[in-house]
Amino acid sequence: MSIPLLSPIKHPWITSFTQNKEQIKELLSQYNSPINIHNMVPFEENFKDFSSIFNKYSLDHKIYFARKANKCVAFVKEAKKLNFGVDTASYKELLECITVGLPADHITLTAAVKAEKLIRLALEHNVPVVIDNLDECELVQHIAEEMKRSVKVGIRLGGFLYNGKYLYSRFGFSPKNVVNLITDYLGEGNKFFRLRFAGFHFHLNGYSPTQRAEALLQTIACVDQLKDRSITTRFIDMGGGFLINYLENESQWENFHHELKKAVLGESEPITFRNDSLGMHLIDGKLHGEPKVYPYFNKKPRALFLDEILSYKNSEGIPIHSLIKDRNIEVRIEPGRSLLDQTGITVARVAFRKRDMEDTLLIGLEMNRTQLFSSSMDFLLDPIVIHQRIDADAEPVTAYLVGAYCLEQEIILKRKLAFKQMPQIGDMICFVNTAGYMMHFYESEAHLFELAKNLVAEEDRGAFKVVPDEDY
Ligand SMILES: *Cc1c(COP(=O)(O)O)cnc(C)c1O
Repeated sequence: MSIPLLSPIKHPWITSFTQNKEQIKELLSQYNSPINIHNMVPFEENFKDFSSIFNKYSLDHKIYFARKANKCVAFVKEAKKLNFGVDTASYKELLECITVGLPADHITLTAAVKAEKLIRLALEHNVPVVIDNLDECELVQHIAEEMKRSVKVGIRLGGFLYNGKYLYSRFGFSPKNVVNLITDYLGEGNKFFRLRFAGFHFHLNGYSPTQRAEALLQTIACVDQLKDRSITTRFIDMGGGFLINYLENESQWENFHHELKKAVLGESEPITFRNDSLGMHLIDGKLHGEPKVYPYFNKKPRALFLDEILSYKNSEGIPIHSLIKDRNIEVRIEPGRSLLDQTGITVARVAFRKRDMEDTLLIGLEMNRTQLFSSSMDFLLDPIVIHQRIDADAEPVTAYLVGAYCLEQEIILKRKLAFKQMPQIGDMICFVNTAGYMMHFYESEAHLFELAKNLVAEEDRGAFKVVPDEDY
């Protein structure tokens, strides 16, 4: 039986790096399996891709890399080198940016929970703070008074109106009453006189450009109301959530959905572990909903996504980029995943092969599920299989990849995969494009397994020099 393929887009560095079997094998024996390998070339390309759109509209802009999407300090160092910013969400993330030497105006602090120690660090270094609620205003005011400083703040907005309904968010102040909050509470002569309003911030869930555009229009309305009361807004930060396109081929993507539905309905052989529906519901023989997965294939990633937002028009037909430019506002974004597109791979060693009680082939990897884990139902990309020896006469096999945590559900990918030949012990499986969230966000140390080693590979005349992240 043939199973649907999902071929990932591979940056040239990934193609050349994975050709060097011996080097990868050595790295695995040096650092243990699995390893995460990063390369900085696509990081710069992705950054330039975003800036090109802002430059097209001659917009003042700043790009802050959302640090939480990957743990490597190498990206912070690279951001400094390329002169862009970093969005931080914890004490350690902030401290690291300061230690690396990013200037204060290239750092923003959006942490969902801000402990006193974190605020003190931000204030000490003049890092602007994005405020989410009144308790935070109190705390920041209190610490600022103590330190005899004032602090630039961004005000987080949430709960925008979209198609006649409010988009739920647990974050931020409502655009309906934020103007009064700012005029009545912030700045000179008010309760929170140490807080200097500098701009607005929001970050929306999901991947809708039109929701972001509508949110921008409502934010601009707030800017105008503030202007009437002589308060200047210097920036609007629209957060992250810019799509990546992971897949080469739209027809593979559609075919996968088609085949998955057939399989779940029992009309063909399963293509997922134990016929997992990836979040669809089978009720009385009918399938409901769509697989709850990231749109791995999409036609408007990154720059195109940003362009769609900025060229969206208000009810008078004026595009957002003009509205922003006319008001002399700096527009900011905080992309995480999309800046990391193509910057990382994860490689694990094959430890065993077995047939389960249903005669399904399982390939055991020296890694666990949290080392390749997303909030989406599955990571829908075919890995690169690095066989130590190619056997031209071998029969192809299909199998599932399983990991080291002792749970029945410890399946690395839920999809059934096709192999040109039976994987041997010591063969290597390379997961492509894992730097954004996949490798780090959920990684845990259950069973006292060590965390995967993070490495940075730099290409020099066709060869790769590989160093630990901390030495980059
Ligand atoms: C997570 C987050 C981001 C980054 O989101 P991506 O989807 O990785 O681009 C940016 N800003 C805030 C406030 C976030 O919470």
